[in-house]
Amino acid sequence: MGLSPMSMYGRIAAQVLTHLVTEAPCCRRDLADVLAVSKASVSRTVMPLLESGMIREGKPVERAEGGPGRRKVPLTVRPDCVYLLGTDLEGGALRACVLNACREVVAGEVWAIGPDWSRDRLLLEWRNLLERVLAQAAVPAGCLAAVGAGLPGVVARTGLATRTFLPSGHWSELDAAEPLRALGVPVAVANNVLCVSEYEQRLGLVHQERSFLSILIRYGIGAALYAEGRQFSGETRFAGEIGHMRIFEDGPVCTCGLTGCLDVLASGRTLPSLASMESAERLAVLRGRAQALGRGIANLLKVFQPPAVLVNGIYNPYAGEFQPLLAEAIEAEFGNLPLVRPRLLFGEQAEFKSSIGAALRAGAEFLPDFFAARMGGI
Ligand SMILES: [Zn+2]
Repeated sequence: MGLSPMSMYGRIAAQVLTHLVTEAPCCRRDLADVLAVSKASVSRTVMPLLESGMIREGKPVERAEGGPGRRKVPLTVRPDCVYLLGTDLEGGALRACVLNACREVVAGEVWAIGPDWSRDRLLLEWRNLLERVLAQAAVPAGCLAAVGAGLPGVVARTGLATRTFLPSGHWSELDAAEPLRALGVPVAVANNVLCVSEYEQRLGLVHQERSFLSILIRYGIGAALYAEGRQFSGETRFAGEIGHMRIFEDGPVCTCGLTGCLDVLASGRTLPSLASMESAERLAVLRGRAQALGRGIANLLKVFQPPAVLVNGIYNPYAGEFQPLLAEAIEAEFGNLPLVRPRLLFGEQAEFKSSIGAALRAGAEFLPDFFAARMGGI
């Protein structure tokens, strides 16, 4: 059964709006390219959206390739026409933020996880946090389209459960369905390192990069590989558990029960307070941690050689000191192998990076239906 012209424009309009919310601002020609429709179809779709005020034209910019009449007019969606909720759980903290349709954080909070919190307490506090940021953002009824969440640990492609190590010093099976489903909107979850990588692909440092290794070091350490613009994963589950890659056989005992894991040597869980250290002492700590991390990264680079390694998390405020130490440590692990030295990229500091990435990821999945349901009149 073919689509009527009306419903076809509705469908393209929903795709245009979704793209404008979940990616950087875009012009008509680029929209036609990414959505694989004609520029005429995009222009016909955009016209009533502009007239209704749902989208706006920004200031024209010259195209990099130049030429007369080759000016881009970026389009943006009216900020208050849809909202996304992003949240993430890591070993040390819960974060949540609300994004408007221009990807601006309109409300956000970070709650440290107490050392005495049980699993039930954690889930209860998470739900309280989500309700609080939604109230702060004053999202109008019916305008919250989806919630995206970043989780630590091995996360199945379907389902909202993970197994994680909490500051109380024990492992816990966590089912995030209770706090996340309570909001009554569609939910998408993924490991935190994937959420941060989505942020960087959509808005950040690897926007033009097809192939890269992404590392996120917070309470734990996660890694993900991207090639041809897509993330590698297993058939059903994603295990970016580079933190439990064993670096030194006789090292300290890790939370996983083995010895000498990268997690013990370089994670936020075991990091002393760098801010209170003299610079010489801090440099010595960073050097030791860079050596362990460099060995882990080099081990991955011996299998897969992307042109860039993207680092996010606790060392990024010290990137000036840490970046050369890490480059040196990776180099030392290459021996005399003729391997390509990747560019080491340190992401900008942004508290809600994982939450924003999770929200945009959920938006890309659920906004087409959300907008399509509102496009009936077009
Ligand atoms: Zn371990």
